[in-house]
Amino acid sequence: MTGRGRGRPRLDDWSEMIDDRADVVVVGAGVVGLAAARAITIDRPGTSVLVLEKEQRVATHQSGRNSGVVHAGVYYVPGSLKAELCRTGKTALERYVEERGIPIAHSGKVIIAVDDGEIPRLDELERRARANGVEGLLRIGAEGIKELEPAATGVAGLHSPRTAVVDFGDLAAALVEDVTGAGASVLTGRAVTSIEEGEDGAVVHTSAGDIHAGVVLACAGLHSDRLARVTHPELDARVVPFRGSYLRLRADKEHLVKGNVYPVPDPRYPFLGVHLTRRIDGEVWVGPNASLALGREAYKLSGASLRDLRDVMLYPGFWRFLAKNVQAAAREIPLTLSKRLMARAVRRYIPEVQASDLESGPAGIRAQVMRRDGSLVDDFLFLDGRRVIHVVNAPSPAATASLAIGDVLAAKVAERLDA
Ligand SMILES: Cc1cc2nc3c(=O)[nH]c(=O)nc-3n(C[C@H](O)[C@H](O)[C@H](O)COP(=O)(O)OP(=O)(O)OC[C@H]3O[C@@H](n4cnc5c(N)ncnc54)[C@H](O)[C@@H]3O)c2cc1C
Repeated sequence: MTGRGRGRPRLDDWSEMIDDRADVVVVGAGVVGLAAARAITIDRPGTSVLVLEKEQRVATHQSGRNSGVVHAGVYYVPGSLKAELCRTGKTALERYVEERGIPIAHSGKVIIAVDDGEIPRLDELERRARANGVEGLLRIGAEGIKELEPAATGVAGLHSPRTAVVDFGDLAAALVEDVTGAGASVLTGRAVTSIEEGEDGAVVHTSAGDIHAGVVLACAGLHSDRLARVTHPELDARVVPFRGSYLRLRADKEHLVKGNVYPVPDPRYPFLGVHLTRRIDGEVWVGPNASLALGREAYKLSGASLRDLRDVMLYPGFWRFLAKNVQAAAREIPLTLSKRLMARAVRRYIPEVQASDLESGPAGIRAQVMRRDGSLVDDFLFLDGRRVIHVVNAPSPAATASLAIGDVLAAKVAERLDA
Protein backbone atom coordinates (compact mmCIF):
# COMPACT_ATOMS: atom_id res chain seq x y z
CA MET A 1 0.00 0.00 0.00
CA THR A 2 2.95 2.35 0.21
CA GLY A 3 3.54 4.74 -2.65
CA ARG A 4 7.31 4.38 -2.62
CA GLY A 5 7.64 1.19 -0.54
CA ARG A 6 9.93 -1.73 -1.32
CA GLY A 7 8.45 -4.36 -3.61
CA ARG A 8 7.22 -7.49 -1.89
CA PRO A 9 7.36 -10.97 -3.37
CA ARG A 10 4.23 -12.99 -4.00
CA LEU A 11 4.21 -15.99 -1.80
CA ASP A 12 2.82 -18.61 -4.12
CA ASP A 13 6.41 -19.56 -4.93
CA TRP A 14 7.17 -20.19 -1.26
CA SER A 15 4.13 -22.32 -0.67
CA GLU A 16 4.58 -25.99 -1.21
CA MET A 17 2.45 -29.08 -1.20
CA ILE A 18 1.96 -30.13 2.34
CA ASP A 19 1.10 -33.12 4.36
CA ASP A 20 -2.31 -33.14 6.03
CA ARG A 21 -0.58 -33.22 9.40
CA ALA A 22 1.62 -30.76 11.32
CA ASP A 23 2.81 -30.36 14.89
CA VAL A 24 1.65 -26.75 14.87
CA VAL A 25 -0.80 -24.98 12.58
CA VAL A 26 -0.74 -21.18 12.74
CA VAL A 27 -3.81 -19.48 11.29
CA GLY A 28 -3.11 -16.07 9.78
CA ALA A 29 0.02 -14.65 8.16
CA GLY A 30 0.00 -11.17 9.64
CA VAL A 31 3.04 -10.14 11.64
CA VAL A 32 1.68 -11.78 14.81
CA GLY A 33 1.16 -15.23 13.27
CA LEU A 34 4.44 -15.07 11.36
CA ALA A 35 6.42 -13.90 14.40
CA ALA A 36 4.95 -16.76 16.43
CA ALA A 37 5.80 -19.27 13.68
CA ARG A 38 9.37 -17.98 13.63
CA ALA A 39 9.70 -18.19 17.42
CA ILE A 40 8.45 -21.80 17.37
CA THR A 41 10.95 -22.81 14.67
CA ILE A 42 13.76 -21.23 16.72
CA ASP A 43 12.67 -22.68 20.09
CA ARG A 44 11.97 -26.15 18.77
CA PRO A 45 13.91 -26.99 15.63
CA GLY A 46 12.40 -29.99 13.91
CA THR A 47 8.82 -29.12 14.88
CA SER A 48 6.65 -29.12 11.77
CA VAL A 49 4.92 -25.75 11.46
CA LEU A 50 2.34 -24.81 8.89
CA VAL A 51 1.00 -21.26 8.49
CA LEU A 52 -2.37 -20.98 6.73
CA GLU A 53 -3.38 -17.65 5.22
CA LYS A 54 -6.68 -17.09 3.44
CA GLU A 55 -5.37 -14.29 1.22
CA GLN A 56 -2.96 -14.73 -1.69
CA ARG A 57 -0.33 -12.61 0.07
CA VAL A 58 0.87 -12.25 3.62
CA ALA A 59 0.22 -9.00 5.55
CA THR A 60 -2.81 -8.16 3.42
CA HIS A 61 -4.82 -6.71 6.28
CA GLN A 62 -3.75 -4.82 9.43
CA SER A 63 -0.06 -5.72 9.15
CA GLY A 64 0.17 -4.16 5.70
CA ARG A 65 -2.19 -1.25 6.28
CA ASN A 66 -0.99 0.73 9.23
CA SER A 67 0.96 3.84 10.19
CA GLY A 68 4.27 1.99 10.38
CA VAL A 69 5.17 3.49 13.75
CA VAL A 70 7.43 1.55 16.09
CA HIS A 71 5.87 2.74 19.32
CA ALA A 72 8.07 3.46 22.33
CA GLY A 73 5.37 2.74 24.93
CA VAL A 74 4.06 6.18 25.89
CA TYR A 75 0.36 5.42 26.09
CA TYR A 76 -0.10 2.05 27.73
CA VAL A 77 -1.29 1.32 31.24
CA PRO A 78 1.84 0.42 33.24
CA GLY A 79 1.90 -3.28 34.01
CA SER A 80 -0.35 -4.18 31.06
CA LEU A 81 0.66 -6.66 28.40
CA LYS A 82 0.69 -3.80 25.91
CA ALA A 83 3.21 -1.88 28.03
CA GLU A 84 5.45 -4.88 28.63
CA LEU A 85 5.35 -6.41 25.15
CA CYS A 86 5.67 -3.06 23.38
CA ARG A 87 8.89 -2.40 25.32
CA THR A 88 10.43 -5.83 24.81
CA GLY A 89 9.01 -6.14 21.29
CA LYS A 90 10.48 -2.81 20.21
CA THR A 91 13.95 -3.84 21.37
CA ALA A 92 13.63 -7.20 19.61
CA LEU A 93 12.32 -5.52 16.45
CA GLU A 94 15.19 -3.02 16.37
CA ARG A 95 17.71 -5.83 16.66
CA TYR A 96 15.92 -7.92 14.03
CA VAL A 97 15.55 -5.19 11.40
CA GLU A 98 19.22 -4.32 11.82
CA GLU A 99 20.23 -7.96 11.31
CA ARG A 100 17.97 -8.28 8.28
CA GLY A 101 18.82 -4.94 6.68
CA ILE A 102 15.23 -3.68 6.87
CA PRO A 103 15.10 0.14 6.79
CA ILE A 104 14.13 1.81 10.07
CA ALA A 105 14.27 5.51 10.98
CA HIS A 106 14.30 6.77 14.55
CA SER A 107 12.63 10.02 13.60
CA GLY A 108 11.07 10.53 17.05
CA LYS A 109 7.65 11.64 18.13
CA VAL A 110 6.32 14.87 19.57
CA ILE A 111 2.96 14.82 21.36
CA ILE A 112 1.58 18.33 21.52
CA ALA A 113 -0.82 19.93 24.02
CA VAL A 114 -2.39 22.85 22.17
CA ASP A 115 -3.84 24.58 25.24
CA ASP A 116 -3.75 24.47 29.03
CA GLY A 117 -6.88 22.32 29.08
CA GLU A 118 -4.84 19.44 27.63
CA ILE A 119 -2.07 19.65 30.23
CA PRO A 120 -3.60 17.19 32.74
CA ARG A 121 -3.87 14.59 29.96
CA LEU A 122 -0.28 15.30 28.90
CA ASP A 123 0.78 14.88 32.57
CA GLU A 124 -0.89 11.48 32.68
CA LEU A 125 0.83 10.43 29.44
CA GLU A 126 4.17 11.51 30.90
CA ARG A 127 3.47 9.49 34.05
CA ARG A 128 2.70 6.39 31.98
CA ALA A 129 5.66 6.90 29.67
CA ARG A 130 8.06 7.19 32.62
CA ALA A 131 6.56 4.15 34.32
CA ASN A 132 6.95 2.25 31.04
CA GLY A 133 10.61 3.25 30.73
CA VAL A 134 10.29 5.16 27.44
CA GLU A 135 13.86 5.82 26.40
CA GLY A 136 15.01 9.46 26.32
CA LEU A 137 11.58 10.90 27.11
CA LEU A 138 11.60 14.69 27.53
CA ARG A 139 8.95 17.12 28.67
CA ILE A 140 9.18 20.19 26.44
CA GLY A 141 7.63 23.63 26.30
CA ALA A 142 6.51 25.82 23.39
CA GLU A 143 10.13 26.58 22.45
CA GLY A 144 11.11 22.92 22.53
CA ILE A 145 8.25 22.08 20.16
CA LYS A 146 9.47 24.73 17.71
CA GLU A 147 13.03 23.42 17.85
CA LEU A 148 11.94 19.90 16.95
CA GLU A 149 9.05 20.70 14.64
CA PRO A 150 9.36 24.31 13.42
CA ALA A 151 5.94 24.32 11.75
CA ALA A 152 4.14 23.07 14.87
CA THR A 153 2.75 25.02 17.76
CA GLY A 154 1.55 24.19 21.25
CA VAL A 155 1.92 25.09 24.91
CA ALA A 156 3.72 21.92 26.03
CA GLY A 157 4.72 18.54 24.70
CA LEU A 158 6.40 15.21 25.17
CA HIS A 159 9.31 14.17 23.00
CA SER A 160 10.03 10.49 22.50
CA PRO A 161 13.26 10.52 20.46
CA ARG A 162 13.42 6.72 19.98
CA THR A 163 10.00 6.34 18.37
CA ALA A 164 10.72 4.97 14.90
CA VAL A 165 9.11 4.11 11.59
CA VAL A 166 9.40 0.94 9.57
CA ASP A 167 7.37 -0.85 6.89
CA PHE A 168 5.71 -3.76 8.70
CA GLY A 169 5.15 -5.39 5.30
CA ASP A 170 8.94 -5.69 5.00
CA LEU A 171 8.99 -7.27 8.45
CA ALA A 172 6.36 -9.82 7.35
CA ALA A 173 8.34 -10.69 4.21
CA ALA A 174 11.52 -11.25 6.24
CA LEU A 175 9.65 -13.43 8.74
CA VAL A 176 8.34 -15.57 5.88
CA GLU A 177 11.90 -16.06 4.64
CA ASP A 178 12.97 -17.11 8.14
CA VAL A 179 10.17 -19.57 8.77
CA THR A 180 10.33 -21.16 5.33
CA GLY A 181 14.13 -21.25 5.62
CA ALA A 182 13.70 -23.17 8.88
CA GLY A 183 11.54 -25.77 7.15
CA ALA A 184 8.05 -24.45 7.94
CA SER A 185 5.47 -23.87 5.21
CA VAL A 186 3.40 -20.76 4.56
CA LEU A 187 0.37 -21.65 2.53
CA THR A 188 -1.53 -18.71 1.05
CA GLY A 189 -5.03 -18.88 -0.40
CA ARG A 190 -6.04 -21.37 2.29
CA ALA A 191 -8.90 -20.26 4.58
CA VAL A 192 -9.59 -21.99 7.86
CA THR A 193 -13.32 -22.57 8.13
CA SER A 194 -13.50 -24.30 11.51
CA ILE A 195 -11.41 -25.97 14.22
CA GLU A 196 -12.25 -29.04 16.31
CA GLU A 197 -10.30 -29.34 19.51
CA GLY A 198 -9.56 -32.80 20.92
CA GLU A 199 -7.61 -34.19 23.86
CA ASP A 200 -4.29 -34.65 22.04
CA GLY A 201 -4.66 -32.35 19.08
CA ALA A 202 -7.05 -30.56 16.79
CA VAL A 203 -8.51 -30.87 13.32
CA VAL A 204 -8.34 -27.75 11.22
CA HIS A 205 -11.00 -27.60 8.52
CA THR A 206 -9.88 -25.50 5.59
CA SER A 207 -11.14 -24.41 2.19
CA ALA A 208 -9.10 -27.29 0.70
CA GLY A 209 -9.33 -30.19 3.13
CA ASP A 210 -8.60 -31.01 6.77
CA ILE A 211 -5.29 -30.80 8.58
CA HIS A 212 -4.49 -32.58 11.82
CA ALA A 213 -2.42 -30.54 14.25
CA GLY A 214 -0.86 -31.09 17.64
CA VAL A 215 -1.52 -27.45 18.53
CA VAL A 216 -3.36 -24.69 16.69
CA LEU A 217 -2.47 -21.04 17.11
CA ALA A 218 -5.14 -18.74 15.70
CA CYS A 219 -3.85 -15.25 14.85
CA ALA A 220 -6.75 -14.22 12.64
CA GLY A 221 -6.82 -10.47 13.23
CA LEU A 222 -10.14 -9.04 12.07
CA HIS A 223 -11.73 -12.52 12.27
CA SER A 224 -10.29 -13.57 15.62
CA ASP A 225 -13.61 -13.62 17.48
CA ARG A 226 -15.30 -15.83 14.90
CA LEU A 227 -12.61 -18.49 15.10
CA ALA A 228 -12.42 -18.14 18.90
CA ARG A 229 -16.14 -18.76 19.29
CA VAL A 230 -15.78 -22.06 17.42
CA THR A 231 -13.79 -23.51 20.33
CA HIS A 232 -15.03 -21.10 23.04
CA PRO A 233 -18.76 -20.61 22.32
CA GLU A 234 -19.10 -18.82 25.66
CA LEU A 235 -16.89 -15.93 24.47
CA ASP A 236 -19.15 -12.91 24.61
CA ALA A 237 -17.07 -10.37 22.72
CA ARG A 238 -17.03 -9.11 19.12
CA VAL A 239 -14.48 -7.62 16.82
CA VAL A 240 -15.84 -4.24 15.85
CA PRO A 241 -13.98 -3.04 12.76
CA PHE A 242 -12.91 0.60 12.96
CA ARG A 243 -11.85 2.05 9.63
CA GLY A 244 -9.03 4.56 9.59
CA SER A 245 -8.36 6.53 6.44
CA TYR A 246 -5.23 8.50 5.70
CA LEU A 247 -4.51 11.53 3.58
CA ARG A 248 -1.06 12.31 2.20
CA LEU A 249 0.66 15.64 2.58
CA ARG A 250 1.52 16.95 -0.90
CA ALA A 251 5.19 16.38 -1.72
CA ASP A 252 5.94 20.13 -1.71
CA LYS A 253 4.55 20.36 1.87
CA GLU A 254 6.33 17.34 3.33
CA HIS A 255 8.99 19.67 4.78
CA LEU A 256 6.39 20.86 7.32
CA VAL A 257 6.90 17.66 9.31
CA LYS A 258 10.28 16.36 10.47
CA GLY A 259 9.25 13.26 12.42
CA ASN A 260 5.94 12.16 13.90
CA VAL A 261 3.57 14.73 15.32
CA TYR A 262 0.65 13.67 17.49
CA PRO A 263 -2.11 15.44 19.40
CA VAL A 264 -2.86 14.53 23.02
CA PRO A 265 -5.33 11.65 22.65
CA ASP A 266 -8.71 11.50 24.31
CA PRO A 267 -8.22 8.88 27.05
CA ARG A 268 -11.82 7.66 26.72
CA TYR A 269 -11.08 6.52 23.21
CA PRO A 270 -8.56 3.84 22.22
CA PHE A 271 -7.23 5.59 19.13
CA LEU A 272 -4.49 8.17 19.07
CA GLY A 273 -6.14 11.01 17.19
CA VAL A 274 -5.32 12.33 13.72
CA HIS A 275 -1.54 12.53 13.60
CA LEU A 276 1.21 13.08 11.06
CA THR A 277 3.68 10.33 10.34
CA ARG A 278 6.77 10.72 8.25
CA ARG A 279 6.97 7.26 6.82
CA ILE A 280 10.06 5.25 6.06
CA ASP A 281 9.69 6.11 2.35
CA GLY A 282 9.57 9.85 3.14
CA GLU A 283 5.87 10.38 2.53
CA VAL A 284 3.92 12.16 5.26
CA TRP A 285 0.59 10.59 6.10
CA VAL A 286 -2.17 12.36 7.95
CA GLY A 287 -4.56 10.19 9.95
CA PRO A 288 -5.96 7.73 10.60
CA ASN A 289 -9.36 8.84 11.71
CA ALA A 290 -11.74 6.29 13.20
CA SER A 291 -15.24 5.35 12.12
CA LEU A 292 -17.24 2.16 11.95
CA ALA A 293 -16.19 0.17 8.86
CA LEU A 294 -18.90 -1.19 6.56
CA GLY A 295 -17.20 -4.57 6.75
CA ARG A 296 -14.17 -6.17 8.35
CA GLU A 297 -12.27 -5.81 5.07
CA ALA A 298 -14.24 -2.93 3.55
CA TYR A 299 -11.37 -0.71 2.47
CA LYS A 300 -13.61 0.49 -0.36
CA LEU A 301 -17.39 0.88 -0.44
CA SER A 302 -17.55 -2.21 -2.66
CA GLY A 303 -16.18 -4.27 0.24
CA ALA A 304 -19.22 -3.62 2.44
CA SER A 305 -20.42 -6.82 4.08
CA LEU A 306 -23.97 -7.43 5.23
CA ARG A 307 -22.80 -10.24 7.51
CA ASP A 308 -20.23 -8.01 9.20
CA LEU A 309 -22.67 -5.11 9.56
CA ARG A 310 -25.35 -7.39 10.96
CA ASP A 311 -22.87 -8.79 13.49
CA VAL A 312 -22.14 -5.28 14.74
CA MET A 313 -25.71 -4.01 14.66
CA LEU A 314 -27.12 -7.00 16.51
CA TYR A 315 -24.49 -6.83 19.25
CA PRO A 316 -25.81 -4.94 22.28
CA GLY A 317 -22.25 -3.91 23.18
CA PHE A 318 -22.04 -1.77 20.04
CA TRP A 319 -25.11 0.30 20.96
CA ARG A 320 -23.87 0.71 24.53
CA PHE A 321 -20.48 1.83 23.16
CA LEU A 322 -22.19 4.29 20.82
CA ALA A 323 -24.34 5.72 23.60
CA LYS A 324 -21.21 6.36 25.68
CA ASN A 325 -19.23 7.83 22.77
CA VAL A 326 -21.76 9.91 20.86
CA GLN A 327 -19.54 12.98 20.98
CA ALA A 328 -16.45 11.19 19.70
CA ALA A 329 -18.49 9.54 16.92
CA ALA A 330 -19.99 12.89 15.92
CA ARG A 331 -16.47 14.31 15.78
CA GLU A 332 -14.89 11.47 13.84
CA ILE A 333 -17.53 10.71 11.18
CA PRO A 334 -17.29 14.10 9.40
CA LEU A 335 -13.48 13.71 9.43
CA THR A 336 -13.81 10.65 7.22
CA LEU A 337 -15.70 12.64 4.65
CA SER A 338 -13.85 15.90 4.31
CA LYS A 339 -10.29 16.99 3.62
CA ARG A 340 -11.29 20.42 4.88
CA LEU A 341 -12.16 19.04 8.32
CA MET A 342 -9.05 16.83 8.46
CA ALA A 343 -6.95 19.92 7.64
CA ARG A 344 -8.75 21.82 10.39
CA ALA A 345 -7.95 19.04 12.91
CA VAL A 346 -4.26 19.23 11.91
CA ARG A 347 -4.19 23.05 11.99
CA ARG A 348 -4.74 22.90 15.76
CA TYR A 349 -1.05 22.03 16.04
CA ILE A 350 0.39 22.72 12.54
CA PRO A 351 -1.32 25.97 11.54
CA GLU A 352 0.02 26.10 7.99
CA VAL A 353 -1.72 22.97 6.69
CA GLN A 354 -4.56 23.70 4.26
CA ALA A 355 -7.09 21.30 2.72
CA SER A 356 -5.41 21.87 -0.68
CA ASP A 357 -2.17 20.42 0.81
CA LEU A 358 -3.82 17.03 1.35
CA GLU A 359 -4.19 14.24 -1.18
CA SER A 360 -6.20 11.05 -0.89
CA GLY A 361 -4.43 8.16 0.78
CA PRO A 362 -5.04 4.56 1.74
CA ALA A 363 -7.15 3.08 4.54
CA GLY A 364 -6.73 0.41 7.16
CA ILE A 365 -9.23 -1.35 9.41
CA ARG A 366 -8.51 -2.00 13.08
CA ALA A 367 -9.71 -5.16 14.76
CA GLN A 368 -10.92 -3.89 18.12
CA VAL A 369 -12.66 -6.28 20.47
CA MET A 370 -15.70 -5.01 22.33
CA ARG A 371 -17.56 -6.52 25.29
CA ARG A 372 -21.32 -6.81 25.75
CA ASP A 373 -21.31 -3.88 28.18
CA GLY A 374 -19.93 -1.61 25.43
CA SER A 375 -16.42 -1.38 26.83
CA LEU A 376 -13.44 -1.96 24.59
CA VAL A 377 -10.91 -4.63 25.47
CA ASP A 378 -7.88 -2.42 25.92
CA ASP A 379 -5.10 -4.95 26.44
CA PHE A 380 -3.86 -7.78 24.28
CA LEU A 381 -6.04 -10.83 24.94
CA PHE A 382 -5.17 -14.49 24.42
CA LEU A 383 -7.53 -17.42 24.98
CA ASP A 384 -5.73 -20.55 26.08
CA GLY A 385 -7.42 -23.84 25.29
CA ARG A 386 -6.11 -27.34 25.77
CA ARG A 387 -4.84 -27.59 22.18
CA VAL A 388 -5.99 -24.38 20.57
CA ILE A 389 -4.74 -20.91 21.46
CA HIS A 390 -6.44 -17.80 20.14
CA VAL A 391 -5.05 -14.30 19.85
CA VAL A 392 -8.36 -12.53 20.37
CA ASN A 393 -7.30 -8.89 20.68
CA ALA A 394 -4.08 -7.60 19.14
CA PRO A 395 -4.63 -3.96 18.21
CA SER A 396 -1.88 -1.32 18.09
CA PRO A 397 0.92 -1.58 19.22
CA ALA A 398 0.81 -5.27 18.25
CA ALA A 399 2.90 -4.71 15.12
CA THR A 400 5.62 -3.07 17.24
CA ALA A 401 5.25 -5.85 19.81
CA SER A 402 4.91 -8.70 17.30
CA LEU A 403 8.24 -10.42 18.01
CA ALA A 404 7.60 -10.34 21.77
CA ILE A 405 4.03 -11.57 21.28
CA GLY A 406 5.50 -14.34 19.10
CA ASP A 407 7.74 -15.43 21.99
CA VAL A 408 4.80 -15.51 24.43
CA LEU A 409 2.78 -17.60 21.99
CA ALA A 410 5.68 -19.95 21.24
CA ALA A 411 5.98 -20.66 24.99
CA LYS A 412 2.27 -21.48 25.16
CA VAL A 413 2.65 -23.82 22.19
CA ALA A 414 5.68 -25.53 23.77
CA GLU A 415 3.74 -26.19 27.01
CA ARG A 416 1.09 -28.00 25.02
CA LEU A 417 3.47 -29.97 22.81
CA ASP A 418 5.27 -31.14 25.96
CA ALA A 419 2.08 -31.99 27.87
C1 LIG B 1 -4.96 1.95 10.57
C2 LIG B 1 -4.05 1.20 11.47
C3 LIG B 1 -2.90 1.81 11.98
C4 LIG B 1 -2.05 1.11 12.83
N1 LIG B 1 -0.86 1.67 13.20
C5 LIG B 1 0.03 0.93 13.92
C6 LIG B 1 1.32 1.42 14.20
O1 LIG B 1 1.71 2.50 13.74
N2 LIG B 1 2.15 0.67 14.97
C7 LIG B 1 1.77 -0.53 15.48
O2 LIG B 1 2.56 -1.16 16.21
N3 LIG B 1 0.55 -1.04 15.20
C8 LIG B 1 -0.31 -0.35 14.42
N4 LIG B 1 -1.51 -0.88 14.08
C9 LIG B 1 -1.88 -2.19 14.61
C10 LIG B 1 -1.19 -3.32 13.87
O3 LIG B 1 -1.24 -3.13 12.48
C11 LIG B 1 -1.87 -4.62 14.27
O4 LIG B 1 -1.96 -4.68 15.67
C12 LIG B 1 -1.11 -5.86 13.79
O5 LIG B 1 -0.83 -5.74 12.41
C13 LIG B 1 -1.92 -7.11 14.06
O6 LIG B 1 -1.31 -8.18 13.39
P1 LIG B 1 -2.08 -9.54 13.21
O7 LIG B 1 -1.14 -10.50 12.60
O8 LIG B 1 -2.72 -9.89 14.53
O9 LIG B 1 -3.33 -9.21 12.27
P2 LIG B 1 -3.44 -9.11 10.68
O10 LIG B 1 -2.33 -8.39 10.08
O11 LIG B 1 -4.81 -8.58 10.41
O12 LIG B 1 -3.33 -10.62 10.20
C14 LIG B 1 -4.33 -11.58 10.41
C15 LIG B 1 -4.30 -12.50 9.22
O13 LIG B 1 -5.17 -13.60 9.44
C16 LIG B 1 -5.76 -13.95 8.20
N5 LIG B 1 -6.98 -14.71 8.47
C17 LIG B 1 -8.09 -14.26 9.13
N6 LIG B 1 -9.00 -15.25 9.21
C18 LIG B 1 -8.45 -16.34 8.60
C19 LIG B 1 -8.93 -17.65 8.35
N7 LIG B 1 -10.15 -18.04 8.76
N8 LIG B 1 -8.12 -18.51 7.69
C20 LIG B 1 -6.88 -18.13 7.27
N9 LIG B 1 -6.40 -16.88 7.46
C21 LIG B 1 -7.17 -16.00 8.12
C22 LIG B 1 -6.02 -12.60 7.55
O14 LIG B 1 -6.21 -12.70 6.17
C23 LIG B 1 -4.77 -11.83 7.94
O15 LIG B 1 -3.77 -11.94 6.96
C24 LIG B 1 -2.37 -0.21 13.22
C25 LIG B 1 -3.51 -0.83 12.70
C26 LIG B 1 -4.32 -0.14 11.81
C27 LIG B 1 -5.48 -0.87 11.20
